[in-house]
Amino acid sequence: MKLPAFEYASPATLAEALALLAARPGAKPLSGGQSLIPTMAFRLAAPPLLVDLRKLKELEQIAVHRNGISLGARVRWRDIEDDERLKTAHPLLVAAVRHVAHYQIRNRGTVGGSLAHADLAAEMPGVAVTCEAEIVLAGKNGNRILQAADFFLGALSTALADDELIVEVRLPPWPASRRWGFEELSPRRGDFAFAGVAAFYDLDAAGRAANAHIGVIGACHRPHRMPQAEAALNGRRVDEAAIRDAAAAAEKAVEPPGDLHASAAYRRALVGTLLERALLYASR
Ligand SMILES: Cc1cc2nc3c(=O)[nH]c(=O)nc-3n(C[C@H](O)[C@H](O)[C@H](O)COP(=O)(O)OP(=O)(O)OC[C@H]3O[C@@H](n4cnc5c(N)ncnc54)[C@H](O)[C@@H]3O)c2cc1C
Repeated sequence: MKLPAFEYASPATLAEALALLAARPGAKPLSGGQSLIPTMAFRLAAPPLLVDLRKLKELEQIAVHRNGISLGARVRWRDIEDDERLKTAHPLLVAAVRHVAHYQIRNRGTVGGSLAHADLAAEMPGVAVTCEAEIVLAGKNGNRILQAADFFLGALSTALADDELIVEVRLPPWPASRRWGFEELSPRRGDFAFAGVAAFYDLDAAGRAANAHIGVIGACHRPHRMPQAEAALNGRRVDEAAIRDAAAAAEKAVEPPGDLHASAAYRRALVGTLLERALLYASR
């Protein structure tokens, strides 16, 4: 279907992009276009102006340093997959991103576009919330930084103002000894998942789990951590009993939506199964 008519701008600087967004109510940033363009084609959105971010090269940076990892908003899924440093600096991120869509979409879709779009089954928002990422937003009054948990308000809904841009997401440092797992189930490879689980923990001197972080996507109206499942793991050896208890706690912690593809009961049971698999992988 043809897109509704729109004007197009391709600013050369961030300041120019912000000024364009502020000057035109309803204007939208265009990044990879993999969500926005289909949305327009289906007439679910008709922004009068698209502000293309393609010339903002400063948003394409991946930085790995002592304080963690910084991903510019225009970093694509493929950039993450191809970055050798991230395989050890953040293996959970790399594993999650491998589940995003198909090659062609991973070649264009970006971190910032995914965070702003906030699909409830998207992997990047789930990783951001699970890992306590910070999301850096630029606006006419300067930058503000939000915790990922405060950024996502609901399905396709965030704390982003109309005239703001996501410029960066910051992930805390990742110890080399950290145990982690990412599991999801989708109808076909590359489709959005029915549900997904991201999990990590560290080991204390006695070999017990500490600092467990367990997040869920798809089985809730926004990505969130599951403190009950984390509590079921912390302070214990990650054996069969601990994994079973964490999975049972996770099933109780979600309020999944039911739809054409999967009932709420199915998604609830799936979350437990996915967490079992993720923890088995982590404890291997
Ligand atoms: C067939 C198909 C399958 C897919 N499967 C998956 C999947 O399994 N998992 C998954 O996570 N995603 C999936 N996607 C979505 C894909 O990952 C998108 O690329 C992503 O959600 C949006 O990124 P984008 O760069 O294309 O953003 P765009 O489409 O350009 O923009 C999306 C939204 O974000 C806004 N935006 C973009 N950049 C910024 C910014 N820097 N600051 C503020 N707002 C911004 C836009 O205005 C728009 O509202 C799929 C898409 C398709 C078409």
